[in-house]
Amino acid sequence: MQWFKNLSNTVKDSLWQANCPLCKRPADRILCKDCDRQITAYQATEFLQKDNPIAPEIPLYSWGIYDGALKRAIAACKYENHPEIMEAIAVKIADTWKRSPHTLSLTKKYKKLFVVPIPLHDSKLKVRGFNQAEILARRFCDVTMLRCNPKLLQRVKETKAQMQTKSKQEREQNLSRAFAVPSTQSSDQQEVILFDDIYTSGATIREAIATLKASNIAVRSVVVLARPQFDR
Ligand SMILES: [Zn+2]
Repeated sequence: MQWFKNLSNTVKDSLWQANCPLCKRPADRILCKDCDRQITAYQATEFLQKDNPIAPEIPLYSWGIYDGALKRAIAACKYENHPEIMEAIAVKIADTWKRSPHTLSLTKKYKKLFVVPIPLHDSKLKVRGFNQAEILARRFCDVTMLRCNPKLLQRVKETKAQMQTKSKQEREQNLSRAFAVPSTQSSDQQEVILFDDIYTSGATIREAIATLKASNIAVRSVVVLARPQFDR
């Protein structure tokens, strides 16, 4: 009956449609066209952030504005167990990355770039089941052909959500020594692109950069899915 099983699988595959994780309507891709369009409406006009909020030598690329449909999609991914939403959005970031002239010069300048997602602490990973930044980074690398190394950086301290901290000092203390580079990671990986879902104060990214730097690993750029609308 194997042939029958195969046949029925084929029929099932061709008829099967998953529902869009955001609006629950049938969709032939991960996101339905309507939700896809609503998310794309929150794509920022500038991918490369001109204000260089991290450091003058570390460009920040931010795909979207953390608001509206994009904000809801990130929440649905994290809190309603829909990691596939990040897969769909990662392709958008990768397409934007491939079209950006700045990224071309970056990859020409640094030939051995690795993409490293900001890790979650094990306890949080157990609860959520996945690290959304890692899903973004892996899918981004599939499309851009960059190499991904989610093991280069580890989160060794449980921290509060940065949004729950009240002052700059509290944010910095919260993250102090939050990361480590495992000794098993070889030292020939000198140059990385850090990847995260949301950029807010930049404290997480700065702490990760400092930890990597202490292990002679240079961050050449940071890519995030979204950051809040800037002050005008
Ligand atoms: Zn939808």
